[in-house]
Amino acid sequence: MNAFDRTGTAEAATSRSGIFIDNEWRPAESGKTLDLVEPATGRPFDRIAAGNARDVDAAVAAARRAFDGAWGRIAAVDRGRLLSRLAARIREAAGDLAVLEARDTGKPLSQARADLDLSARYFEFYGGATDKVHGRSIPYQPGTLALTERVAHGVTGHIIPWNYPAQMVGRTLAPALAMGNATVLKPAEDACLTALRLAELARDAGFPAGAINVVPGRGEVAGAALSRHAGVDFLSFTGSPEVGTQVQVAAARRHAGCVLELGGKSPQVVLADADLDAAVPVIVASVVQNAGQTCSAGSRVLVDAAIAGTLTERLAAAFAALVAGPPEADLDLGPLINLKQKRRVARFCDLASAADVPLVAEGRLDPRADPDGFYVLPRLYGPVPRDHPMALQEIFGPVLSLLTFTDEDDAVRLANGTEYGLVAGVWSRDGARALRIGRRIAAGQVFINGYGSGGGVELPFGGVGKSGHGREKGYEALFEFSASRTIVIAHG
Ligand code: NAD
Repeated sequence: MNAFDRTGTAEAATSRSGIFIDNEWRPAESGKTLDLVEPATGRPFDRIAAGNARDVDAAVAAARRAFDGAWGRIAAVDRGRLLSRLAARIREAAGDLAVLEARDTGKPLSQARADLDLSARYFEFYGGATDKVHGRSIPYQPGTLALTERVAHGVTGHIIPWNYPAQMVGRTLAPALAMGNATVLKPAEDACLTALRLAELARDAGFPAGAINVVPGRGEVAGAALSRHAGVDFLSFTGSPEVGTQVQVAAARRHAGCVLELGGKSPQVVLADADLDAAVPVIVASVVQNAGQTCSAGSRVLVDAAIAGTLTERLAAAFAALVAGPPEADLDLGPLINLKQKRRVARFCDLASAADVPLVAEGRLDPRADPDGFYVLPRLYGPVPRDHPMALQEIFGPVLSLLTFTDEDDAVRLANGTEYGLVAGVWSRDGARALRIGRRIAAGQVFINGYGSGGGVELPFGGVGKSGHGREKGYEALFEFSASRTIVIAHG
């Protein structure tokens, strides 16, 4: 069946949308469901279970049993084999899952395919790492042997957003499982179908009951219950700074650790000698990918005033050529996730026109786009005043703000001039100068003559300030999802 065929009921296409506990589907304890609205049409296309605190209780209890039982006893190398098997299952199912992801999130099909590839990559990467995390021996007092080992936290809770559901499952669950934790996932109520499918694939790959549990539902109900749950030893949250703060407070109340990834306002610094042929397509893609709903979107271009005119012209031509349309048309971008986000982006654009910030260029809408879809056109604004909300706040849409600087110090001041610090890019043919500037920018990732938004399974990722704290991705995530235990043996 063509999953983009919108004539039938979507429940026929996606029937596995309950709560996944102990490797089994069940309805919500309350019997309630939530409608999933398709971003490209604005109409409901599926239903998910509305998990509540009692469902979260059941999921946490299942995870605890798994951690104390079969899952907790599996050798590291065998945990790795399970992760690798899951990666293979994801690759087998990637075609169908990409279609599901595209319908659920609205993103163009090829972007959804790339997301599924990355989801599998996370399980491959961490599947190969389970037996390569070592402790150390420490010179200590005579007559003793002092050692450290890395131990799982126990039960880990994972709250993820709607922008990259399949990728996020890999990013947050794979390292936690690799270290032996038993997991409870709360996917976002706006888009979570692939997250649910991946749990089922994990069961088929051989994960024992309780290692992976998924409770869909509203954030303020299921998410809040998970973040407050006394049985959860560690939390991983990706989403808005406002909710991230609540999650951190809930974790702190019971002295649990947490890693928070809360978005950004990431700068792309373009020096006067930059290779614009290389820079322009990367800058545009970084803010248009996933319709700009990417935490690491390079949403601020900071350009040397000497070349501001040239760069503006080049970016304007690129923006004018962008086309938004339905996911199956596979254009530059799809709709936003929901009406709330569409209104949020419109509010920033209204603020820009109220302050006479020039709208330099705008993309266009493909005629196949449903008028009820949550589309916004990609827009380039500039020069944007430094104190305008568009220069300082995360928009989470395909909107690029251009600002100018006068010298190196000014560029660094501007780059560091928001509350965020997630990713930065610096473009220059003078590699040493670009590196010097890049190293002065407060950000978790700095790219020189390039920019990676989204990819980089191997690259530690996370922010400073309002972007959050802790690191996911790469080898660092294995340390985030485990703790060090010191053992001292007295032998005389
Ligand atoms: P959100 O923070 O409300 O949602 C993220 C996740 O947290 C979802 O799973 C949601 O169900 C859950 N959640 C919501 N309330 C909760 C609570 N009280 N306790 C525990 N969990 C809760 O994000 P949103 O409203 O979907 O988006 C709003 C803004 O957040 C966006 O405009 C964007 O700026 C930012 N955002 C950032 C990312 C990112 O990748 N960093 C992703 C999505 C949204």
